[in-house]
Amino acid sequence: MARKPHVVILGAGYGGMMTANQLQKKLGTDRANITLVNKHDYHYQTTWLHEPAAGTLHHDNARVEIRKVLNPGKVNIVKDTVEQVKTEEKQVVLKNGEDLSYDYLVIAVGSIAETFGVEGVYEHSYHKWTLDGARELKDKIEFQFAKHRNQENPEEEDLTFVVAGAGFTGIEFIGELTERVPELCEQYDVPREKVRMYVIEAAPTALPGFDPELVEYAMNLLEHRGVEFKINKPISEVQEGKVILKDGEEISANTVIWATGVRGNPIIEDAGIEANRGRVKVEPDLRAPGLEDVFVIGDCSLIINEETERPYPPTAQIAMQQGTKAGENITNLIMGGATTNFQPEILGTLASLGGKEAMGTVKSRKMYGRSALFMKHMSDNRYLMKLGGLSLMLTKGRNPL
Ligand code: FAD
Ligand code: NAD
Repeated sequence: MARKPHVVILGAGYGGMMTANQLQKKLGTDRANITLVNKHDYHYQTTWLHEPAAGTLHHDNARVEIRKVLNPGKVNIVKDTVEQVKTEEKQVVLKNGEDLSYDYLVIAVGSIAETFGVEGVYEHSYHKWTLDGARELKDKIEFQFAKHRNQENPEEEDLTFVVAGAGFTGIEFIGELTERVPELCEQYDVPREKVRMYVIEAAPTALPGFDPELVEYAMNLLEHRGVEFKINKPISEVQEGKVILKDGEEISANTVIWATGVRGNPIIEDAGIEANRGRVKVEPDLRAPGLEDVFVIGDCSLIINEETERPYPPTAQIAMQQGTKAGENITNLIMGGATTNFQPEILGTLASLGGKEAMGTVKSRKMYGRSALFMKHMSDNRYLMKLGGLSLMLTKGRNPL
């Protein structure tokens, strides 16, 4: 009997999970061996992380054990950290286990924070948008309140929170923080006026490129809850206890949250695959240029919007669709067929603003407040339904009301 091809998927985020889901449906165990490698034995919802990070949602609600949603009889689930991809040898080096050889590889290891050369980000800010990163930030926020309470002469910067970047991550996080702060003030007997919350943005507007009316809605709402925006003010350095702006202004803050965009996981550049800010400009069928057996999806990939001639922003929406397409294309290749091209279907963009508030567009229609949040939660639930069926949606889903 001919040797079965080995498909190795790296990363169990949106892209990796959807690839594995597709392959386990389409390929019998007699056709291929499928392996999924992930740092943890759970899949987490990156798109929800602003909530556990601020402490408005328990982190367990934002994760699910991989074995509960994939079939371990069909997908070999390996908990390990990928250290290196060797495309010439067709091998993956793991931190703990033995190297893996592959016939087809799917790289879906997500992204890390982009600093754009700003010094001190990795050393002095909270920049890890991972489940562990969210847990650490939540603890730090609570610690700051406890510390402030327990000092003879508390410092203002203990309760000053700076969010770098008014993109969607920064805006969604500050929205949650504004909801959490009144609760923490009560819990730690801290007057509300002692807490300062800044969002600092380099561009001439928050959420650059997004609908101006929706941007205004979000900013007004957040300002009303006590957020101070500093727009058109790039941060040039982060030091312990402060951020320094390009115009020389300094803001003292013992908690700096970095959200100025992402770059592809360093595994990509280490592998010598041609990339732009760690993201591979993939072929139309999602393969890496010149590598017939390597698919790159999600935040590690870069695809161009033909209408605007600009890259699509890296989103879960695209990562999931790419995962499904990568699974289909690998199935086709194993069955002796050909690959087909990926075309994203952009359904809209919705951002939560804390509490019952959200805003965004769905099929070009603007939405505000509770109805926007309803749509956002419905879309979260639709993903869970796709991934793990009704039982996952009922156990981990959002209450849309
Ligand atoms: P991820 O989902 O990040 O998954 C990567 C996986 O790889 C993780 O499980 C990680 O543990 C694993 N991994 C990483 N390195 C290694 C390694 N060395 N070895 C083994 N495993 C590894 N997008 C939207 O479309 N809608 C939204 O509402 C939205 N909200 C967001 C909110 C926040 C707070 C953030 C931070 C992002 C949001 N995004 C949203 C963007 C979206 O989360 C990402 O685009 C998406 O997660 C990318 O999917 P991915 O599969 O490429 O990576
Ligand atoms: P982003 O690129 O969307 O926004 C980063 C912001 O930081 C930009 O406005 C940029 O001008 C600003 N910035 C850059 N350098 C700066 C500096 N030195 N000082 C101050 N500001 C600076 O990145 P993000 O918000 O991290 O989001 C990452 C990706 O995830 C994006 O593709 C985004 O669309 C997606 N996302 C989507 C949602 C949603 O759909 N609800 C939520 C979060 C993230």
